[in-house]
Amino acid sequence: MEKKIIIVGAGLVGSLWAVYMRKAGYKVVIYERRSDIRKAEISAGKSINLALSERGWNSLKAAGIDKEIEKIAIPMSGRIMHSQDGELTYQAYGKEEEAIYSVSRGHLNAIMMNLAEERGNSTIHYNHQCLGADLKNGKITLKDLQTGEVFEDQADVVFAADGAYSAIRYNSMQKVDRFNFSQFYVEDGYKELLLPADKNGNYQIEKNALHIWPRGRFMLIALPNEDGSFTCTLFMPYENHEYAFNDLDSDEKIDQFFKSVFPDFYAMIPNLIENWHQNPLSSMSITRCYPWTIGKFALLGDSAHSTVPFYGQGMNAGFEDCFVMWKLFQKHGEWEKTFDEYQKIRKPDGDALQDLSLDNYYVMRDHVANENFLLQKKIEAKIHKDHPDKWVPLYTQVSFSNIRYSDAYKNGNVQEKIMQEIMKIPNIKEIWDSKEIEEKIISMI
Ligand SMILES: Cc1cc2nc3c(=O)[nH]c(=O)nc-3n(C[C@H](O)[C@H](O)[C@H](O)COP(=O)(O)OP(=O)(O)OC[C@H]3O[C@@H](n4cnc5c(N)ncnc54)[C@H](O)[C@@H]3O)c2cc1C
Repeated sequence: MEKKIIIVGAGLVGSLWAVYMRKAGYKVVIYERRSDIRKAEISAGKSINLALSERGWNSLKAAGIDKEIEKIAIPMSGRIMHSQDGELTYQAYGKEEEAIYSVSRGHLNAIMMNLAEERGNSTIHYNHQCLGADLKNGKITLKDLQTGEVFEDQADVVFAADGAYSAIRYNSMQKVDRFNFSQFYVEDGYKELLLPADKNGNYQIEKNALHIWPRGRFMLIALPNEDGSFTCTLFMPYENHEYAFNDLDSDEKIDQFFKSVFPDFYAMIPNLIENWHQNPLSSMSITRCYPWTIGKFALLGDSAHSTVPFYGQGMNAGFEDCFVMWKLFQKHGEWEKTFDEYQKIRKPDGDALQDLSLDNYYVMRDHVANENFLLQKKIEAKIHKDHPDKWVPLYTQVSFSNIRYSDAYKNGNVQEKIMQEIMKIPNIKEIWDSKEIEEKIISMI
């Protein structure tokens, strides 16, 4: 009999996992709640974009689809900070050749769905909502959202790639004794805005950078799209702060807010109020759970470890789940041992990713525009350049390497302690690139 697997969710992780599973010779059946996004118009400008970095690329490469994705990826080699008076500061992410890449979520998803279908024996059933699961027997209950019919399907193994609010996790795993689960909402929400190309179709701000307007307790960021526009995201508390979403309750207040707080952005965006009302205000949460596998079921991607988006790693981590699961399946050749080792390896990495994401939220919000922070990063970059085997900055470990998130997090904490000592040196601004500082740091590693 042909071996069959089911994937619930044809989002970014589910569609990549379908490509992998085809390589293993499985018949792949995917159930997706939404309709086929390829049939809806995907205009680059209207599509939300994401930052793809090394571990994401590594996982796409192992699936043999990196070359397809390269065609739609825009390199961003650093951050450009926009101060309130319009001054720009550039901060490279890493060495010259190192960049993270802006990709359209819709395009990426559509390419992977095509590849899953083309390259394999995969069938995607759209408008099919998973309602729950019989974990022991590999069975799921589904509802055809067009006909209302409820039915069951069964497979050797089932992968829940159904996102942060996973139905398999919520309706079935959470009912199992000793299943741990927690959900934490940060006090901020986010709202997307589109900064269009200028009238000649050109980018209004530097294309190959991630733009940040840091304003203490809140910030606006912008990532480039292929058509000259930028998808911008405002992150801000819902309430209880000088500036908060719930207080921006009239068009006048929204207009005044952008005019006074982001004047350079305000001057570029032609239809701010219309733009504002086009996209919803969304919340952000971190969900932690364990185990990640029960019976014939495994969680992959956000269903296992959804996080806040401040390290730009959620998708990259989900892709890495696929890579790790794939390697383990090649090693064991059967699912029980693969699942067991997968969750033992990936759980600490999922936890570390969530801690890193929260920490980076504070960095982006409060520190990126801070003089001392910028100096600290300059010192770290210099030590990294002169002693690449001894010092790899945390951002580089997370975004430009495949070092485990849990190791990167530990290394980052050690480095931070060292740098806190160094930054206390009274004349550090004058002697930051001296031999004395270099030797002191090296002796502390
Ligand atoms: C504002 C924001 C910015 C982000 N930026 C980045 C970034 O720059 N870089 C990065 O790496 N990550 C980023 N992320 C994180 C990234 O979006 C997620 O980690 C990624 O989408 C997870 O992929 P997934 O396939 O696990 O889940 P999803 O993308 O959520 O896909 C889940 C799929 O399952 C389907 N589904 C859900 N329930 C059911 C059901 N009951 N039955 C059937 N189907 C179902 C959904 O329709 C969906 O298609 C960002 C997230 C946010 C919110």
